[in-house]
Amino acid sequence: MELRLGFAPQMIDNQIFLNAVDLKKTIQPLLSDGTICPAKTNRIIVIDPGHGGEDSGAKSVLGNRYEKEFTLDWARRLASVLSAKGWQVYLTRANDSELPLSNRVAVAEQRKADLFVSLHFNSAAPDNQQAGLETYCLTPTGMPSSLTRGFEDDATLTFPNNSFDGQNLQLACATHRALLRVNGNHDRGVRRARFPGVLRGQQRPAILIEGGYLSNPREARLISEPGYRQKLAQAVADGIEAAAPGEHEIAVNANDTDQKSEATGEALPAEAQRAVAR
Ligand SMILES: [Zn+2]
Repeated sequence: MELRLGFAPQMIDNQIFLNAVDLKKTIQPLLSDGTICPAKTNRIIVIDPGHGGEDSGAKSVLGNRYEKEFTLDWARRLASVLSAKGWQVYLTRANDSELPLSNRVAVAEQRKADLFVSLHFNSAAPDNQQAGLETYCLTPTGMPSSLTRGFEDDATLTFPNNSFDGQNLQLACATHRALLRVNGNHDRGVRRARFPGVLRGQQRPAILIEGGYLSNPREARLISEPGYRQKLAQAVADGIEAAAPGEHEIAVNANDTDQKSEATGEALPAEAQRAVAR
């Protein structure tokens, strides 16, 4: 699985050195057991079907169909899979309506969501070759983003969602890994961005998934198939369950949260220490 570092590693005296921000914000969260351990265990999630109403999102190369339709269907399928697993699920929009990005965050706030997942499909039109899966979480402070799309990317800023850097990455990786099994490992990586809309202001772990390219004929055909969207939904649910297990497991693993180790200035896990020592 491809994972974008914030900084290129450097060779010094024939040894590979990673930037300290990458060590702390990219490597360390993945060396822990991968569980998110939210402070509360209500298992409430807000799913955000990208776009809607006048904002159609990307157009499918295969005809007059748009991203907003496919994200809504994917979200509904995901909602029903997660509900069956005992999650309380809310959608930011349940029909073809337009919703400002700030309102999407407000829904998560209002519902006191433990997690937030925004669903999108990509486009590189007129290029029809580009294909594959991307999963985004908010860039940690001090790190340049993998993607900036024309908005400001000030690495010195800290946003509310930066309190969840470790959990964001764990959720992104677990979900991305599950989705890659569905799309045949066409991997464009777990990436970081300071998207102005749905990630920055979240008071909970949050990710944004780009589930394939509507500008690519092969992927557009797959995305247009309900059975494929059901597999995408199942995979996201599997990733969420892997990253945020039930109450019992959370109680067992409660010592491992990123926040705790940051707050107490705890040392790196043993494996990371060995990596540093080497
Ligand atoms: Zn989109």
